[in-house]
Amino acid sequence: MKRDVDILEISDGRFYRENDMVKADCGGCVGCSMCCRDMVDTIVLDPLDVWHLTNRLGLSFEEMLDKQLMLDVFDGLILPRLKESRETGECPFLDGDGRCSVHADRPGFCRIFPLGRYYENGDFTYILQVKECPRPKTKIKVKKWIDIPDMDKNRKFINQWHGLQKEMQDRLAQCEEVLQKNLTLQFLKIFYLTPYTKDDFYAQFESRYRTIRSILQ
Ligand code: SF4
Ligand code: SF4
Repeated sequence: MKRDVDILEISDGRFYRENDMVKADCGGCVGCSMCCRDMVDTIVLDPLDVWHLTNRLGLSFEEMLDKQLMLDVFDGLILPRLKESRETGECPFLDGDGRCSVHADRPGFCRIFPLGRYYENGDFTYILQVKECPRPKTKIKVKKWIDIPDMDKNRKFINQWHGLQKEMQDRLAQCEEVLQKNLTLQFLKIFYLTPYTKDDFYAQFESRYRTIRSILQ
């Protein structure tokens, strides 16, 4: 999700790569689940997040839309996000002990938090958001904090996905309403509603990426 903010106001002013040390380790969040209660409606899921969660839970994307996820509009695109409890605002994956029940397969947003991504010139660096988590933190290597396999493939995917969303937004801004609706629904169908297999995610994403590219040409 795009945020129009002054980077110096929300971060420590530094840009981090995977091998840098960053003061992000909040010690396993013991006794705290604040961001799993207060920020749920901003946690948008990318196709990799959906692949992780559907595989883990043995549910289809549409089955998850019943309970754990919902569709919302972000910068003109229809995208899934976590669905907070109406009563408590909590994430559906927060367990009774205040812990994440899908920790190994948590969405990318949760995985990097309190880091965020800063996109520039077709690539991204990480920033440390200094206003989001009140806990004292210790230093940790960025890649250890994020702890995602196939980091190079993941970076390529994140950049492609970010670039594609931006391109879609630009294209939608130039379309008439009927075409906008059609394109938005095709995007949703290609990347979310069409089921993924358990095989390598990145290969499946590449194939779908080629499909949308041919539509956008
Ligand atoms: S606010 Fe910080 S310490 Fe609390 S759950 Fe979130 S990341 Fe963990
Ligand atoms: S998926 Fe896990 S880490 Fe992310 S908000 Fe929900 S409970 Fe918290």
